[in-house]
Amino acid sequence: MGELAVTGGRVLRPGQRVERADVLVETDSGTIAAVADPDDSGDRDIADGADDHLDASGGLVIPGLVNAHTHVAMTLFRGGADDKQLDAWLREDIWPVEAELRAGDVRAGAALGIAEMIRSGTTAFGDMYFFMPEVADVVAESGLRARLGHGCITVGKSEAEAHGEFEQGLAFARQHDGRADGRVRTMLTPHSLTTVDEAFYREYVPAAREADLPVHVHANETTDEVDPLVAEHGERPLSYADDIGVLAADSFVAHGVHVDERERELLAERGTGVVHCPASNMKLASGMAPVQALRETGVTVGLGTDGAGSNNDLDMFDEMRDAAMLGKLAADDASAVPAPAVVEMATAAGADLLGFNSGRVAAGANADLAVLDLDVPHLTPEHDLVSHLAYAARGSDVRHTVCDGQVLMRDRELQTLDLETVMQEASEHAQALFERAGHA
Ligand SMILES: [Zn+2]
Repeated sequence: MGELAVTGGRVLRPGQRVERADVLVETDSGTIAAVADPDDSGDRDIADGADDHLDASGGLVIPGLVNAHTHVAMTLFRGGADDKQLDAWLREDIWPVEAELRAGDVRAGAALGIAEMIRSGTTAFGDMYFFMPEVADVVAESGLRARLGHGCITVGKSEAEAHGEFEQGLAFARQHDGRADGRVRTMLTPHSLTTVDEAFYREYVPAAREADLPVHVHANETTDEVDPLVAEHGERPLSYADDIGVLAADSFVAHGVHVDERERELLAERGTGVVHCPASNMKLASGMAPVQALRETGVTVGLGTDGAGSNNDLDMFDEMRDAAMLGKLAADDASAVPAPAVVEMATAAGADLLGFNSGRVAAGANADLAVLDLDVPHLTPEHDLVSHLAYAARGSDVRHTVCDGQVLMRDRELQTLDLETVMQEASEHAQALFERAGHA
């Protein structure tokens, strides 16, 4: 049985306690075997006999970050369409280019996004997009963990095409669930409450439940989306979502910006989580999600970057800082959404939303870890390392990344992807794609 020892550093434990400890990983099962302080008398030195070591001295071992909502292949759009309202941005810039997407583009964009996530300490992500078998392949090859769904849109499509979307979504979910030793899990992902007709929710959500698939949708993102929905259905979006079966304990919505008190209670009652995407919400001027109120109501809130077109990076450290800052503005209260809350959102809460036993450095949990260098000016002095994680650390501070017990980055060198090739292929695909769409 292979063992990996992560030694010499401090460790962020559940409850946001920072302790001096080493972490022993069972590489075959991909789980954490033990976390212990080697200086404690009576403890066997857990690192003894391990066949691989990662040096965490002068560093902090944290749970791998969880980017619970993204569209990873949209790295190809980075910097290609900025500074517009959501509706115009989608209709004028994103959808015309997406119409030209090919499988190879999605593969190249996914590899780029996954390389970026590994380099910034993210070990799991939730994703809805197109050509998802390509994304699943890159997840399997790169060693990351993900919950994936084919984004189903029915508006503007014929009845037959719309059925085809959902049949494709279900087929993908059934075929790929559990791949790569369970690192790939799947879900049904109708794109949003407004881009999928009610009849398709009524037909396919029960099919997803039958197949034990979580459901994940964009919801309550902008007032432009909420107001017509209220006019059409005569109820708030999340009441409607509840009527059509979307709200359930294993399911989660993205954004949840414009939610009223009753909708927050409904989410808490159903056990449905929310992925907060603060950078995307700010960039598209979607609004300020009531994160403090959601958490106080008992809703599990994770964090996501959303796609790189509306962010424009996939660095979860940026997302933590944005969530803390925007959460205070939204609550008009500087004590709202404090540092420990955003760290929890980016780790354990996100893992819970995606249904992974990750997000905690504890024996028995998945060995999904990142090791940060602390010996840098912007993390000095060390009054409070949880504060540093939320407010001052950057993705580039990550020294090592481990997922499922496998080292994916060692001393900032990617181990499963060739970074130069990944960047070159993504650049070529992005340029050719934008040219095909007449958007270059
Ligand atoms: Zn999104």
